[in-house]
Amino acid sequence: MQGLMQTWPLTVDKILDHANNWHGDREVVSRSLEGPIVRTTYGAIHERAKRLSNALLALGVSNGDRVGTLAWNTGRHIEAWYAIMGIGAVCHTLNPRLFADQLCYIMNHAEDRIIFVDLPFLPILWEHRERLPKVEKIIVMTDRDHMVEATYPGALCFETLVEQHSPDVVWGEFDERTAAALCYTSGTTGNPKGVLYEHRSTFLHTLVSLQADAMGLSSRDSILAVVPMYHANAWGLTFSAPAAGAKLVLPGAKMDGASIFELLETEHVTFSAAVPTVWQMLLQHMRANSLRPSKLKRVVIGGSAVPEALVRAFRDDYGVEVVHAWGMTETSPLGTLSSPNAAVAAMEPDERLYYSLKQGRPPAGIELKLTDDDGNLLPHDGTTFGRLKVRGPFVVGAYFRGEGGNILDDEGYFDTGDVATIDELGYMQITDRAKDVIKSGGEWISSIEIENIAAGHPKATLAAVIGVHHPKWEERPLLLVKLNEGETATREEFLAFLDGKIAKWWMPDDVVFVEEIPLGATGKIDKKLIRQRMEGYVLPTAAAVPAQ
Ligand code: ADP
Repeated sequence: MQGLMQTWPLTVDKILDHANNWHGDREVVSRSLEGPIVRTTYGAIHERAKRLSNALLALGVSNGDRVGTLAWNTGRHIEAWYAIMGIGAVCHTLNPRLFADQLCYIMNHAEDRIIFVDLPFLPILWEHRERLPKVEKIIVMTDRDHMVEATYPGALCFETLVEQHSPDVVWGEFDERTAAALCYTSGTTGNPKGVLYEHRSTFLHTLVSLQADAMGLSSRDSILAVVPMYHANAWGLTFSAPAAGAKLVLPGAKMDGASIFELLETEHVTFSAAVPTVWQMLLQHMRANSLRPSKLKRVVIGGSAVPEALVRAFRDDYGVEVVHAWGMTETSPLGTLSSPNAAVAAMEPDERLYYSLKQGRPPAGIELKLTDDDGNLLPHDGTTFGRLKVRGPFVVGAYFRGEGGNILDDEGYFDTGDVATIDELGYMQITDRAKDVIKSGGEWISSIEIENIAAGHPKATLAAVIGVHHPKWEERPLLLVKLNEGETATREEFLAFLDGKIAKWWMPDDVVFVEEIPLGATGKIDKKLIRQRMEGYVLPTAAAVPAQ
């Protein structure tokens, strides 16, 4: 028997309608690319996004067309998003940190017809426009004063389009499974692959992310969305903030410690989300200048594992709660969060900390399982490593244009490519990416666990661990360390620091001090590049093994 409730398609335009109707005066504050801080409201964003929808319709954009955005987090970027999605077109967020070749590949693969671009990225886009035959128009996200029309003939000005068009447009009224947004994974293996989010999946992800044990957002929050909108939709914040009616603060291009601290204070930020490297920079800035945030209560940290030292510093020195989160572009992206359940909440602070270093528990709407390579279920005992698989209404079902073929197992689960444990209390912990895990003598060593401990050494800025070929053991761990400015250290100091904190056979065979630990386009340690750089390196322990 069918139920008898109303038909109300879950389309994301309704999120901004809600913000306009009930939180129309709530502020959206951006550090603009032109320089100054710009203040607007959900009400104004709603109206301007509607005008922009009419501009897109006038340019011939229709349902299903891809429209790219190559931009930092700003109010204009939000206007572009809702303008695109509201009329059933697909908003394709492009990561400006990618190389031009990758960007061209992605834009061509997606067949973007129009690109919204921030001023600083216009020259590079212009330089490569011949390689982008499908791109018909470029819209520069600025005002008339900053347009350089002579240099870029035919480029359109965002503010002029907003002025020229009426706000009278109908949003939504299409199937809730219509595609809303497209985001390519960074493709650490093979070509980047597109994840095509639906209106429905995004709406459901928004509701889930608001839960108290997830992001726990409310209309009283002031949210600083540091995580970029091109990085899995700013982890959904540009949907969940208007859904909650929270104030939204957007950092534009400046994510250094001083700029972030300034926004935290001037905008009374209570909640923020970013990858660990951003928080490390903020901590360094606060320490160096004896500063402390006055209103900040909670930060969600994810994208890569959170080092213990970071959680301790926020908790003990600044009274800020850290919620560790795991997810991926393919999961919209929230998959698990480490907020305490009843059992963990009852523990002593240091025991609780142990759980906040894990990646956490799934909210309702995410199903997880652990399997071996043959798909057999593994126990949730907190020690058995296995492949982490995930299923749910906002998890990828197939990549755009069928790249990679069938990506689901017989039960409809997606293999995340992560290796993890799940403990008796339901907390998942990533031990590695399947391709980074170190295979030593038939056993697995977690590169992440060693690097997190090493990064806690007072002389270390950043640490990375990779597996290096070993004639006897197949692979052995090599620790790379970037020391703090002006610091010196020995290999033995670091090995002594790890001693007792990891199993003896996990001990790195060597420590190399490096000038730089390369970070990829989403701020994570780029192990692929490190492996390339270390090619030809021979472990001292390998050199000692006689050739067979
Ligand atoms: P990419 O890193 O390829 O750009 P994503 O941003 O989708 O793609 O990253 C997803 C991956 O990032 C996960 O599969 C996992 O390996 C890693 N990751 C995300 N969050 C965490 C976390 N909290 N701890 C450890 N690894 C994480």
